[in-house]
Amino acid sequence: MSNLLCLILLFSSFIISAQNLTTIYEQSNGKQTPTYFQAIDWWKKTDAASPIVKMQAMGTTDAGHPLHLILVSQDNDFDINSIKAKRKNIILINNGIHPGEPDGIDASMLLVKDIIQKKYTLPINVVLAIIPVYNIGGTLNRSSNYRVDQNGPEEFGFRGNSQNLDLNRDFIKADSKDAIAFTQIFHYLDPDVFVDNHVSNGADYQHVMTLLTSQHNKLGGAMGEFLNKEFEPALYPLMKNKGFDLVPYVNHFSETPDAGWPEFWDSPRYSSGYATLWNTFAFVPETHMLKPYKQRVASTQALMESLIEIVSKNNAKITVLRDQTKKQQVSQTSFPIAWKWDRAKSTEINFKGFEVGKKNSEISGLPRLIYDRNKPFEKKVPFYNTYIDTLSVEKPIAYIISQGWWKVIDRLKMNKVQMRQIIDDTTIEVEAYRIENYQASSRPFEGHRPNSNVRVSKTLKKITFHRGDYYIPVNQKANRFLIETLEPQAEDSYFAWNFFDAILGQKEGFSDYVFEETATEFLKNNPEIKNKLEQRRASDSAFAKNRAAQLDFVYKNSPYYESAHLQYPVYRVVK
Ligand SMILES: [Zn+2]
Repeated sequence: MSNLLCLILLFSSFIISAQNLTTIYEQSNGKQTPTYFQAIDWWKKTDAASPIVKMQAMGTTDAGHPLHLILVSQDNDFDINSIKAKRKNIILINNGIHPGEPDGIDASMLLVKDIIQKKYTLPINVVLAIIPVYNIGGTLNRSSNYRVDQNGPEEFGFRGNSQNLDLNRDFIKADSKDAIAFTQIFHYLDPDVFVDNHVSNGADYQHVMTLLTSQHNKLGGAMGEFLNKEFEPALYPLMKNKGFDLVPYVNHFSETPDAGWPEFWDSPRYSSGYATLWNTFAFVPETHMLKPYKQRVASTQALMESLIEIVSKNNAKITVLRDQTKKQQVSQTSFPIAWKWDRAKSTEINFKGFEVGKKNSEISGLPRLIYDRNKPFEKKVPFYNTYIDTLSVEKPIAYIISQGWWKVIDRLKMNKVQMRQIIDDTTIEVEAYRIENYQASSRPFEGHRPNSNVRVSKTLKKITFHRGDYYIPVNQKANRFLIETLEPQAEDSYFAWNFFDAILGQKEGFSDYVFEETATEFLKNNPEIKNKLEQRRASDSAFAKNRAAQLDFVYKNSPYYESAHLQYPVYRVVK
């Protein structure tokens, strides 16, 4: 074939493909969102039509379908190491984690179509990485009835995935294959910026989009400062120019938002909180459910474009800040693991709301809240966006965990934690935590009954570890992830998510009538325990009258009591 013919054929195939790239959303004049298969077919066609778009499958999901990742790179370079070497920034965009909120699925298709048709310029120093549909199981479960209050599209998917899990609570516990595949994508890319596209419900107001940003005090350091003072503030005027007046995610505590609200607390179970553990700037745009679908999709596209523009402009700064933070965290000695909202500090934001009123409910006859859309208002309200840390831990030299706790080890491996297995049985003096207090959730939550209000005591102990147990040095990129998942008092630790609940139940016990004899003999030979028992009897009258409690006291103070009970099995090497 002649070169000319080749060129003509190539050129005409581009034209044909470009014509075929009209999306379901466009065909339906903004009323419909594609099914899962329609969306994937569109991306396959787009990949074939444009050399700057590459689609790949990464891992599988609970739905039995692979998770897809799309890269959009202006110089056709899809090699992540090479992209990093060129100091380009990667923006990872996640869509359809809640499939009833498909705005990002459509907005991402429109954005990439605009890029390849040269209606929008993707800067050379930014690479887009897009998960076209994350919650595939939920997307396949389509209806027009879910999200009863929402204004379009005509049909959409369901919040729960194939295991009925909310994937936006699954980033640490990783109960779904979906989360495992996401983790693989996240570490493959090490994105500079992460965007998770959503739709919010709750109060009514004029804003089409609200924006949840990684909590800046929790992100901490120079990155937290940059996020709060420069990055996030730059988004607001850009979005305003594009016709969308942003306001921080409306997280109000009173009946209506006009008294202000605290910044949303995005612990690591959430997408943006997970990203924080890896020093990635994260944004969760939330379009408002009552706004027409077309407006919502347009605002989602505008937000992604605004982010692209800010990232491109701050490319060098973002790259350097992340590099420095990662380096600094390798040698950082103290890490905060708990924070609380500071009620004394607020900033003022411009809130465009609707006046509220009351009328009687036709169902109950009782007063109900109404937002009056004919009475818009604009006023300054307080936004409480300062959190202070309330508990810090000194990092150990290493953690040691026995191989039996493989579910946790698997999750560390999936997060690219560097560890090595002990070669020979070894006795090491380590810091050991005992669980002194915790509260298990009385109701199931996402397949768990999370533990909270965890309190520990610590002692130095000689523990024998076995060949194959894992030694995890805390001198690595994963330091923050390790601290916030392995310290049992951290809010989203593996202890909190019930991975270590087996230590909370006593496995062995005694028969009263037999142990009475053993205990008598034991007290004779251990006068210090006898003393302890007598002191307790003298100070606690209920205890003094309770034979079983006293026998149990002797048991728990004797070597017969099992060491595993309440003994947290991740040990800290501190010297
Ligand atoms: Zn959502």
